[in-house]
Amino acid sequence: MKDLSKLREDFPVLSRRRNGKPLIYFDNAATTLKPRQVIDAVKSYYENCSANVHRGVYELSQEATDLYEDSRSRIADFIGCKSNELVFVRNTTEGINLVAYGIKWIPGDEVISTVMEHHSNMIPWQIASKRFGVELKYAGVKQDGQLDLDELEQLVTDRTRLIAVCHVSNVLGTINDVKRIARIAHDHGALLLVDAAQSVPHMPINVKELDCDFLAFSGHKLLGPTGIGCLYIREGVEEELEPPFGGGEMISHVELYSYRLNDMPWRFEPGTPNIAGAIGLATAVDYLKSIGMESIREHEKQLTARAIEILKELDGIEVYGPTDPEKRCGLVAFNLKGVSGELIAALLDEFENIAVRSGFHCAQPLHKVFGAQSSVRASFYLYNTLDELEVFKRGLERIKNELGK
Ligand code: PMP
Repeated sequence: MKDLSKLREDFPVLSRRRNGKPLIYFDNAATTLKPRQVIDAVKSYYENCSANVHRGVYELSQEATDLYEDSRSRIADFIGCKSNELVFVRNTTEGINLVAYGIKWIPGDEVISTVMEHHSNMIPWQIASKRFGVELKYAGVKQDGQLDLDELEQLVTDRTRLIAVCHVSNVLGTINDVKRIARIAHDHGALLLVDAAQSVPHMPINVKELDCDFLAFSGHKLLGPTGIGCLYIREGVEEELEPPFGGGEMISHVELYSYRLNDMPWRFEPGTPNIAGAIGLATAVDYLKSIGMESIREHEKQLTARAIEILKELDGIEVYGPTDPEKRCGLVAFNLKGVSGELIAALLDEFENIAVRSGFHCAQPLHKVFGAQSSVRASFYLYNTLDELEVFKRGLERIKNELGK
């Protein structure tokens, strides 16, 4: 990464200090910091336009519509799809729920998910199972943190309607072989949904190369505002869905007892959308593009390799997920034997002003597989530095000393 210190100046929150110590923000898997450019874009929409989209012929409304639709096409380009394949939603969770509630299920249809999923990619299928008679099955994860693809393949039958997997695990960091899973799904006439909450922000993504049918991600995890996310729906696949929510914008013609659905993607965007959010997210995407997703991936690989090295050097620490940085993304979950994750996170904050997450990171069943109640997770992004990792090391050493571990 070129000129990291200059890049860091774009992020106002990074100037926060406590007791003279700069903030070290290692909770990027939860949400990321926002660069000034994104904040300004959101502010500019409210200051200079503020009108609703798709509703007026007057200049301001047309300007708002142009800004909103132009944002869509820039984001679509970022993941390699067409504008009409990109639906704006609130976040990854809503994108997945849209599919779970939208598919015209036939009782007995099967969904296959995995035990390494975030609850966002589990609960919607459990609900679909209760409401629509869908049968839910899970593929397991191996002790090295890799998905058991052979098991997944064995679970597929002719009744399998959908396979729903994360691209990157938010606990293990594992990067799943989505292309292979797409082949497995399509060979059996099933659809593939990818939860890309932890991959779109961190590596180059092209939905056509991945060959998935749905892909969901959240804007706030890639420098964008909260409350805006995207669901990619492969062209043609929309016919398998009935919009779960109705109202304005999603229809092209209405009678008292009937309606005609609008074209894609608006048929899945009822009501006034998050216009400022879409504009902010497109600005975030432009920002990431200007740095280059390959460079970001390389930078995070370096940070992850060093983080794993530090954790391995300290006695009594268990690290979860693949050890090879090529096979994982920029986050590391770990535990120190006999010490709760909450205590480690609180002490890292107190000693060194480091923000890490503790708990089960919305992946309770996965923690059970590894016999852990919870874990500490440090997750990195483009503005983190190797120097920050040395402070992290110092903080962990002090914790170990003070707790006599
Ligand atoms: N899936 C994964 C893999 C995640 O890491 C997260 C966020 N932690 C989500 C889904 C849910 O994202 P959101 O809360 O933005 O909907």
